[in-house]
Amino acid sequence: MRFILSIIAILIVFVSYSSNGQKIFIDPGHGYSANGGNPDGRTQTEIHTALATGLKLKALVDNDCSWQSLMSRTTNIGGWVTIGTRQNMSDSWGADYFISIHCNAGGGTGTETFWCNQSSSPNGAANINFAEGIQSSMAAGGQWFDRRVVEEHGFLGYHFGVLTTNQAYSCLSEIGFVDTPGDAAKLNSNSWRDAFAQAYIDALETHIGTTCTSSCPGNLNLPSNALSGTYISGNTITSTGQVQNGSNCVLDASSAVNLDPGFDAVPGSTLDAKIGGCQ
Ligand SMILES: [Zn+2]
Repeated sequence: MRFILSIIAILIVFVSYSSNGQKIFIDPGHGYSANGGNPDGRTQTEIHTALATGLKLKALVDNDCSWQSLMSRTTNIGGWVTIGTRQNMSDSWGADYFISIHCNAGGGTGTETFWCNQSSSPNGAANINFAEGIQSSMAAGGQWFDRRVVEEHGFLGYHFGVLTTNQAYSCLSEIGFVDTPGDAAKLNSNSWRDAFAQAYIDALETHIGTTCTSSCPGNLNLPSNALSGTYISGNTITSTGQVQNGSNCVLDASSAVNLDPGFDAVPGSTLDAKIGGCQ
């Protein structure tokens, strides 16, 4: 009977903990229609920079973090997706984070980030904090003039519409200006696009409270203290810690996650224990 109870407990662990990993939805904004049309009338610099940067961010998410990614588009031609569809894709997938990638126009310089708490859930301080993190990381990593990070209630029928009822922590990043020469040169640079993607993932890591790694550390022993963020092991994770109310914890090991006596994930916390993410 004890053996059977253990099996049941293990099954409950996997069933209940396998659905709460960090899900990063990447929305590279405007695209072309299938016949090459340009429904939003955007510049090639914006359309191509958003997708190239988004794909680089996807690679960072998929390779380094044991997180999951989903994109609203993965092509330029045929990549035009309606505002409502983009947000619905994210919400129905259950995204934890949503980043919409755009480039500015109209004269000006620098980077800016928008958030919208009008009807978002979760809204409030954490949503703003996420947008502020994206802004500061992009300003630093992209070496941009730091224009502003603000709430935006305009253009909700247009590109900002992806934020209005978004269920994830969500923001819209205008990386730089397509019609200002210095900005445009950076937007069209492959190496700068790498830096933009790195800025996004740096901000995600900071907000989530983890440091992703491309290598797999060995056995990880997490003693009895508060657990938050992502813990990755190439072998076994053993813990007697606590996941406190409001905290998110991911335990991602290649061979085993051992939750020893004393371990507790209290109501209001999120625990995701999984096997095989780090090889
Ligand atoms: Zn745009």
